[in-house]
Amino acid sequence: MPFIPIPNIAPEKISLDLLSKKNVEASVLRLDKVHPVISGNKWFKLRYYFEDAIRQNKKTIVTFGGAWSNHIVATAAASKEIGINSLGIIRGEETVDLSPTLRQAKEFGMELIFISREDYRRKKIPIQLNESDHYIINEGGYGVKGAEGAATILDAVDFQSYTHICCAVGTGTMIAGLTNRTATLQKTIGISVLKNNVSLNGKIRELLINEEKSFQIIHDYHFGGYAKHTVELITSMNEFYRQTNIPSDFVYTGKLFYGVIDLIRNNFFLSGSKLLVIHSGGLQGNASLKEGKLIF
Ligand SMILES: *Cc1c(COP(=O)(O)O)cnc(C)c1O
Repeated sequence: MPFIPIPNIAPEKISLDLLSKKNVEASVLRLDKVHPVISGNKWFKLRYYFEDAIRQNKKTIVTFGGAWSNHIVATAAASKEIGINSLGIIRGEETVDLSPTLRQAKEFGMELIFISREDYRRKKIPIQLNESDHYIINEGGYGVKGAEGAATILDAVDFQSYTHICCAVGTGTMIAGLTNRTATLQKTIGISVLKNNVSLNGKIRELLINEEKSFQIIHDYHFGGYAKHTVELITSMNEFYRQTNIPSDFVYTGKLFYGVIDLIRNNFFLSGSKLLVIHSGGLQGNASLKEGKLIF
């Protein structure tokens, strides 16, 4: 390891009037730049699963996701790069036109099996899965190995100098890994992109090595729920791009940047705070938006 080299990316300090007014510093770690497809946090979360699958001589990686899943396409691309088969169990019936995400996953050689939302929720997996050959990765890469991989996001960064690490939260795997790696006095702040995800804190705790470590999930910036968006969100993504030159996606990082700025505005962070904001990638998901909404 690492199979897929991770370029050294230095945090970019952003300058906004609000930041100087509140005496808060913020730097963005642009993981969207690590790989064109296995973007953002995904390779970090996947790397130890792949390592384990190869150690166990498994033939095929099996994982789960929806039609726009960053995790699905990242798993497909990583499997191809590493030379292992991949199989995606996709939520919902197959449509005539595949989403660009699924088309791309297919191009990377992933076999797709569509199951109804009902079966997906009940985790009713088609019987043709042959357990001995398959290496199963949970939806979104949730699990201990995912968190261990996510912790390595901080390997290339002088992260000790920040007071807070901020990130978007789906399954909670990334924030659990980051929390495991940070120093005792640092705090991780997660912006949940799902609506009322009440089980999230428990799911994150399950992955923590040290229960005392401090993380906080903010549930106020989901904009209607997972993959939902409003005009206000799109406007703020465009505005953020205009001010910082940083593109974001409407499912995760757009909500993250909106949330962090709003928290700063509302004095959530004390004067003198130094934030490291993780840009976790996911820009491919913007392809599901109508053209012309985003300026980048
Ligand atoms: C998958 C993903 C996340 C969520 O990571 P979790 O570990 O599931 O919380 C955040 N941002 C982006 C861009 C993602 O693709």
